[in-house]
Amino acid sequence: MKYIDEYRSPELVRGLLQKINGRAAELPKQITVMEVCGSHTTAISRFGIRRLLPDNIRLISGPGCPVCVSAIEDIDQALWLAAQPNLIFTSYGDLLRVPGSYGNSLEKIRAAGAQIKTVHSALDAVALARANPEHKVLFMGIGFETTSPTVAAAVLQANKLKITNFFIYCCHKLMPPVMHTLLDEKEVAIDGFLCPGHVSTIIGAQAYDFIIKTNRAAVVTGFEPVDILEGISLILEQLISGVTEVKIQYQRGVNKEGNQKARAVMNEVFKPATVNWRGLGEIPESGLVLNEKFAAFDIHRHFSIPDITSQANPACRCGEVLSGRIEPHDCDLFGTACTPTKPFGPCMVSNEGSCAVFFRYPNPAQEAKPGRYQHENQCRKKHS
Ligand code: SF4
Repeated sequence: MKYIDEYRSPELVRGLLQKINGRAAELPKQITVMEVCGSHTTAISRFGIRRLLPDNIRLISGPGCPVCVSAIEDIDQALWLAAQPNLIFTSYGDLLRVPGSYGNSLEKIRAAGAQIKTVHSALDAVALARANPEHKVLFMGIGFETTSPTVAAAVLQANKLKITNFFIYCCHKLMPPVMHTLLDEKEVAIDGFLCPGHVSTIIGAQAYDFIIKTNRAAVVTGFEPVDILEGISLILEQLISGVTEVKIQYQRGVNKEGNQKARAVMNEVFKPATVNWRGLGEIPESGLVLNEKFAAFDIHRHFSIPDITSQANPACRCGEVLSGRIEPHDCDLFGTACTPTKPFGPCMVSNEGSCAVFFRYPNPAQEAKPGRYQHENQCRKKHS
C-alpha cells in the first residue's frame, strides 16, 4: 500500500504539474508525445492525465497493444489453422475475439466446434502437448520483447523433452523498429516518446539511442501517475534544453542494459524478420521467426496454408489509431456501432487497445457525438 501511495501522492502530482506547466510555457510550439505501451495507454486514461496537462502538450497512443498490431492476414491464417482436424489451437484470451476477414473470429469457430483453448503462457501449451500426444498442439505467440523470452523458453523446454507435437505460430514483434518507422512518419510529428516500461526491462534503455540521434526526447517511464508526469516533465526538459538523451524514469524496473539472460534465450530461439503490422504495413526486421535449429516447431513446416484474400472491415480505422494518425473518438463507429461488447476491430477488443481504453475511461471533452455509449448503457441497464 505504501508503494502505491508513494506513486499516487497528491503532493507529488501537484508538484510535477507545476513543473510541467512552467516548462510548457517555455515551449515554442505544441508538442506531441507518443506512448507505445498498452499499459501506458491505460494508465494515462485511467488517471485522467490528458486532462491535467496544458493545451500545448498532446499525448497520443501508438502501436503498444500486441493483439491490435497483429495484421488481419495473421488472424485469417490463425482461423484457417484453428479449423484443422486433430489440432488444438492455443493462445491468449484477447486474441479470440479479434475479427478476421468477413467478421469471423476464433471465438466464433470455437463455438462451431474448433478445439481452441486459452492459456496463460506457452508453457501451458507445452504441457497440453504432453498430455495429448495424439494431437498437434499449436501456440500462437503474439506480443513484444516482454513475452517472447517466455515463448522461447517454452520452445527450449519442448526441445529438451523431445516433444514433437508442439508447434509455434510466431507473430511476435519488436518495438525499436516500429518506433523507428514512426519517427519517419510525415503525418504524425513526434517530439518525444514515453518509452515502454515492460519492454525496456528486457531490451534496456540503450535500445532507444536511435531516437535521440533524431533530436527527439526519450524517457523510459513507469505506470503510476507520478511516473507518467515525471516522464513528461523529463521530456519537456530535454526539448527545451535541446540536449536529448535516453532518460530512465522507471529506475525501479529498468537499467541501461536490460535483461541479458532473457535476450540470450530469445536470440537462441528466434531471429529478426520483416513482418506485417496492422496499419503500418511491412517493417524490416520488426518481428521474430524461429531459428533454423528450432524450425521443426514452426507450424508453417507442417501445414501449407492456402492463399487467403484478407479484407479488414473498411469502416474500422484501427490502422490509423495504431499509428497515432487519429484518436479513437475520430472514428465514426466509436462508442456507437463499435463497443467492447460488439467490437469491429482489435483496438476495441483488447483491454489495452486504445479504443477500448478510451471507451472505458471517457474524456468528456472528446465525446460529443450523439448516440455514443447508448448501446452499452442500454445493456448495462438491462443487466443491472
Ligand atoms: S472504434 Fe471500433 S471501428 Fe473504430 S477504429 Fe476503433 S475498433 Fe475500429
